[in-house]
Amino acid sequence: AGNWKMYKTGPETKEFADKFKPLVNGKADGEIVLCPPFTALELLSEALRGTNVALGAQNMHWEAQGAFTGEISPLMLKAAGCKYVILGHSERREYFGESDELINRKVKAAIANGLIPILCVGEKLEHREAGTTETVIRTQLLSGLQGVEPAAVAKMVIAYEPVWAIGTGKTASSGDAEQVSSFIRSLISATFGSEAGQTVRIQYGGSVKPGNAAELLGMPNIDGALVGGASLDPEAFARIIDAGKAGA
Ligand code: PEP
Repeated sequence: AGNWKMYKTGPETKEFADKFKPLVNGKADGEIVLCPPFTALELLSEALRGTNVALGAQNMHWEAQGAFTGEISPLMLKAAGCKYVILGHSERREYFGESDELINRKVKAAIANGLIPILCVGEKLEHREAGTTETVIRTQLLSGLQGVEPAAVAKMVIAYEPVWAIGTGKTASSGDAEQVSSFIRSLISATFGSEAGQTVRIQYGGSVKPGNAAELLGMPNIDGALVGGASLDPEAFARIIDAGKAGA
């Protein structure tokens, strides 16, 4: 899945889609998702019609509608053609004060409206250095999934994104990424049952590039990648998708 963050206008989105579609059409065994800014959702939905690329948003409000100036609802995302929504990205937690409790409300609202959440969890460098990575992940995961039915958890995507690796060029080693992904799967199995644990898809995110994708995606508990910077370039993102296929 590509997270475009706050990049690309409408015309730039169109230009991306024209270059990207021939590179990936019919190629992926898994799923390909693009998450542009809100302003490009409908345009990209139209451009992706009939392709193997699904649409996602990067955030949403938890109410269907109301007096929430500047917000976008799950109903609006559905109507714009979204299948997925990224929730709890570390940039939302850090710069917009999103708490686990608020993210949990959004997760439940997304599911209630037929959207699949891509729930992001990840430790900061200070946590990794203090040896508290698993404690942080456990809290974010169990709070974010509080009250969610096991069948819905099974359909979800969890993105493990160490905060220190996002947009920094530093990638977690494949061993470290696998260790945390395996911990996430075990925790989901223990809390929501083994079926949810086996079926939930776990992505790694944090400076994934064409050169490191195959090794990360070859790990047994890493099912996919959440890609920021490299997803802005159609060729680079297509090469990551090909690496995922090779590592599957
Ligand atoms: C992200 O935005 O989720 C991300 C992982 O960014 P980047 O790939 O640029 O590190």
